[in-house]
This record gives sequence, structure tokens and C-alpha cells, in this order.
Amino acid sequence: MKTIALIAHDHKKDEIVNWALKNKDILSKYNLCGTGHTAGLIAKATGLNVKAYLSGPLGGDQQIGAHIAEKKIDMVIFFWDPLEAQPHDPDVKALLRIAVVYDIPIATNFATAEYVINSKLMK
Ligand code: PGA
Repeated sequence: MKTIALIAHDHKKDEIVNWALKNKDILSKYNLCGTGHTAGLIAKATGLNVKAYLSGPLGGDQQIGAHIAEKKIDMVIFFWDPLEAQPHDPDVKALLRIAVVYDIPIATNFATAEYVINSKLMK
């Protein structure tokens, strides 16, 4: 079963929770994981099992990046905030970079996440 990682910066958390609720049936067919707070919020809202790594600023992005390099994560939904500086900006860049290195789908906004999750390639 493929694994999807879910991450959202603070001002994007409502958006990713709404996206997860909208796509709950599809997401239920995958292993889910995410950074600490994002994983907790999505699990609570949807009732889905979402494995929680550390919070992003405390190393969660790096944990997810390492799992991408180990080929244990197949896709990332990452709603990053383009309007606020992040203390862990180097980790954010590293995560975006490693996803490109390993050529995995990484959706960074709601519209792209919709295209990706509804793609026939998902099947
Ligand atoms: P969080 O981390 O889900 O623990 O808030 C997200 C992030 O800032 O990368």
C-alpha cells in the first residue's frame, strides 16, 4: 500500500483539514503520515489513522524527507505558507528538494492536491 505524507504550515492547517475531509474516502485507501500537529488535526477531523512524526519545526520535515530517501513515502501533500517566514525554512527547502530528487508527486496547494488525488494514475 502506498504512503502519503501530509504537512501544512499553521495558516494552512484549516485548508489541509478541509481537503482531507473532502477526500476522506480516497485517503482511507492509503497509509497516511504527517508532521505532528497536522497529522493530529487530520486524524481528529477524519477519524483516519495518520502516523504522526515530530512537529515540523522540531524535525518532522526532516523525518519525512529521510523516509522519502528510503522510498517509504510515495507522495507528499504539503501546504506551505508563502506569506509567512518559517523558523525551519531550511528544512522546508530540503523536503521540497528531496521530493524532486526522488521524483515523487508533491502537491503544494489545494488545487494541485485535488488534481493529484483524483488522478487516474493514483490507481
Ligand atoms: P506541524 O508541522 O504539522 O507539526 O505543525 C508543520 C510544519 O511546519 O512543517
